[in-house]
Amino acid sequence: MTDSRQADVPTVKLLIDGDFVESTSSEWREVINPATQEVLARVPFATAAEVDAAVASAKAAFASWRRTPIGARARIFLKYQQLIREHMQELAAILTAEQGKTLPDAEGDVFRGLEVVEHAANIGTLQLGEMANNVAGGVDTYTIMQPLGVCAGITPFNFPAMIPLWMFPMAIATGNTFVLKPSEQDPMVTMRLVELAIEAGIPKGVLNVVHGGPDVVNAICDHPDIKAVSFVGSTRVGTHVYNRATLAGKRAQCMMGAKNHAVILPDANKEQSLNAMVGAAFGAAGQRCMAASTLVMVGEAQAWIPELVEKAKTLRVNAGTEPGTDVGPLISCAAHERVKGLIEAGTREGARLELDGREVRVPGFERGNFVGPTIFSGVRPGMRIYDEEIFGPVLVILAADSLDEAIAIINANPNGNGTAIFTQSGAAARRFQEEIDVGQVGINLPIPVPVPLFSFTGSRGSKLGDLGPYGKQVVTFYTQTKTVTARWFDDETLAHGVNTTISL
Ligand code: NAD
Repeated sequence: MTDSRQADVPTVKLLIDGDFVESTSSEWREVINPATQEVLARVPFATAAEVDAAVASAKAAFASWRRTPIGARARIFLKYQQLIREHMQELAAILTAEQGKTLPDAEGDVFRGLEVVEHAANIGTLQLGEMANNVAGGVDTYTIMQPLGVCAGITPFNFPAMIPLWMFPMAIATGNTFVLKPSEQDPMVTMRLVELAIEAGIPKGVLNVVHGGPDVVNAICDHPDIKAVSFVGSTRVGTHVYNRATLAGKRAQCMMGAKNHAVILPDANKEQSLNAMVGAAFGAAGQRCMAASTLVMVGEAQAWIPELVEKAKTLRVNAGTEPGTDVGPLISCAAHERVKGLIEAGTREGARLELDGREVRVPGFERGNFVGPTIFSGVRPGMRIYDEEIFGPVLVILAADSLDEAIAIINANPNGNGTAIFTQSGAAARRFQEEIDVGQVGINLPIPVPVPLFSFTGSRGSKLGDLGPYGKQVVTFYTQTKTVTARWFDDETLAHGVNTTISL
């Protein structure tokens, strides 16, 4: 972090009460291109007064926004999805520059968020209550799903387009106002998406953005005028956010770290399974919460490890801007050191290093945070490379004798984000689906992130809070159900006298 200002580097603005404003903070951090170490921008750590101003603006805007007709809210998101489509390449270029993933993958990041925006445009069919007619003589009961007020979102670095778009479009479409705290590591594409949201017609104060680190996050958790907090990030921080926000009486949903296991049975289609595994383990340099970072090879499938290694060797490590790149750089020098340290720990702890990506050289990008695809076999629980989320292009392989043993390994791991099975047996796949204690299951699909007609449903150690982001579950998260029981009197239903019993 720095506290000096360089005139030649652009600053990332706050969005408060409809205006993009320069922070008055004395704490700033550089946004750095992870392929080149070029300083792209400087991002402020907002002051307490700026956080208060953002929340106050959102609180004031809620008074009218909650009464805005549902069709008017929906039309903003119709316009917004069109603007995102029109700016797709520009958004992807900003994302790749600050985050490192390849340009096609950056477009995928934006696209998966765009799908949530499309769903938000459909809010008229989602925020519907229920009605029961004649629950007693002349009495009806119905529910209304009302917005909560000011909601907040705290997002991670690895999907700087998709994850903010998991949050504010659905919160705002359901009638709430919002304060967003993007990742301080790559806030620029998020801010471009916010600018487009304002251009699409989101009124002043309905969406606000503050930047920062722990102090700003804690201020959000504690603020009495914020009703709900959505968090996506590491387990350590998510657990802190959940505890602090719920202690302050807020709703909280925290999607956290992962160790996603895939299982390959010997009857699987070898070519398809190995291709899928290589893509899912090393895509985005392994920095996806749904990366298939752990592989359990069952029985004779263990003989396929050399072919898996050969496929991984064909991946091209390069800057995300270069055509044909498969694996870009890690987000930061610190992440680079951490991942290399974990690889070193794996070798010390007795795992077999089948492929070592530590010495990769990328001509023209010598200063980039690159680690090439790395594969360990002979991995066991208790090794750091198994027990910790590596969040880099490192695949760890365990052996199992049977599907039952593979299921037992996965269910004993504390994380429950995603899992996958590769098999041609419907019976084996169904047994896996029924017995596995993980929230998102892929069958012959390695990264089973649901589309927004459904919700993201990580579980166990990967999630705190009952309801997931986007889809139907988030409509429930961002609304309070009010139940109305009503009787309208006419000559036939007029009651006579006082009744002190518990009937209607
Ligand atoms: P992170 O937890 O370091 O940061 C997430 C957010 O918390 C950021 O906005 C950051 O500013 C803030 N933060 C960081 N340290 C904090 C602290 N001490 N106190 C309060 N706030 C703090 O996560 P990251 O490194 O940006 O993202 C990677 C992690 O996110 C991985 O663990 C990954 O699995 C997880 N993730 C999970 C999902 C999911 O849906 N389950 C999706 C994407 C990423």
